[in-house]
Amino acid sequence: MACEAQKFRCSEVPKFSSAETAAIRGGRVADPWSRAIVTPLVQSTTFVGESLESPPPHAYSRVSNPTVSSLEARLGAIEECPPAVCFGTGLAAETALFLASLRAGDHLVLGEAIYGGTVRLVRELLAGLGVSHTFVDTAGDEGPARVAAAIRPTTRLVFIETPANPTLTLTDIHAVAHATKRASGGNALLAVDNTFLTPVLCRPLDLGADIAVYSTTKHIEGHSAAMGGSISSRDEALLTHIRWVRKCIGNIQAPFNAYLTERGLATLPLRLREHSRNAQRVAEWLVSRVGNGVASVNFPGLADHPQRELARRQHLGDLHGGVVSFEVDGGYDAARRLLAALQLCSLVEHVGSVETLVTHSASMTHADVPREHRLRVGITDGFVRISVGLENPSDVIADLDQAFDTVFSECEASTLEGGVPCQAAK
Ligand SMILES: *Cc1c(COP(=O)(O)O)cnc(C)c1O
Repeated sequence: MACEAQKFRCSEVPKFSSAETAAIRGGRVADPWSRAIVTPLVQSTTFVGESLESPPPHAYSRVSNPTVSSLEARLGAIEECPPAVCFGTGLAAETALFLASLRAGDHLVLGEAIYGGTVRLVRELLAGLGVSHTFVDTAGDEGPARVAAAIRPTTRLVFIETPANPTLTLTDIHAVAHATKRASGGNALLAVDNTFLTPVLCRPLDLGADIAVYSTTKHIEGHSAAMGGSISSRDEALLTHIRWVRKCIGNIQAPFNAYLTERGLATLPLRLREHSRNAQRVAEWLVSRVGNGVASVNFPGLADHPQRELARRQHLGDLHGGVVSFEVDGGYDAARRLLAALQLCSLVEHVGSVETLVTHSASMTHADVPREHRLRVGITDGFVRISVGLENPSDVIADLDQAFDTVFSECEASTLEGGVPCQAAK
């Protein structure tokens, strides 16, 4: 396989004392041909060999491509790893991971509070290929013991997401890594979907996980402009095997998307810091509206978050990313009207970009998750996710405030006129 990635040793990966420097300098090399400081976009399917004895370093862009390899080196460096493996989307990365680690007859343990697309992939596709699975509540002090209890002799992979999308419940990575190794006798790997925090705010591999998985579509690219996924690990044999799977199924990232993602990476630490601070402000404002349109607020930076101690331990710098979620009083109808009343925030299926983005999880990202599964993890019909962007947070709060005022004064008016109260409205 033509890929310089194979030559890395973990001990040779340069270490930077700060994420800001690593995000800009880590894994970066000036292009040897043009000396360009920005990695060139090599938009070519194939590469020319001189002779059969001296093949080109990259043979074919389904296998590897110079622009994609540059992003891989940089994503690896920020996590102090060999080069990452990049894919067309986050779900393409998950698919490659599942195909690389599971075969018919094997068993997979997953956190139950997890991205809806992951649930669909496992329930509707993997199950049909003979891979069985168990969803486990991995949050709370009992989470690691529940993971251990779900592990069978055939379990090869444990897959968790923390903070979970969109409930923001946390899983103790260190404790689950320990439980996975002990209960499986070392036969199961632990993978963590670290999309919400990225290696800038959480380091699953330092906490004992074997694999970190990312939808780079979200904060890493960060500008709503390019799809992508990546896998990081310190296990070189595993990375080589995942590259081979990617070559077999052909789900590598497109060079232009890798180019845009590498550009996003440089400002990732700065953006995440601001996203986290803005999200903290929005979460605190939402708390101030509890009882007045808001039923409850989820954000790991809130003083009364049930896993506040774990958040402080597991997230770097007491920063918790840009995603906040809350439940609106009045269920689906109130949520629908609130989302329609927003003027600045965009109603989309996306998180982690410069724009503030809102999502109705039950009907959008988690529409394919069975209703009882959704309700068990807390995604009710009045549940709203907000990915706080980089606008001035006062403007985001003003937009939410006017939307709440619109919806809840409408309710009051209809109640006063003898109409149905909001909670009961259809
Ligand atoms: C979006 C997302 C994914 C899937 O990524 P795509 O790039 O959309 O395929 C996986 N996990 C999490 C936590 C996500 O938010």
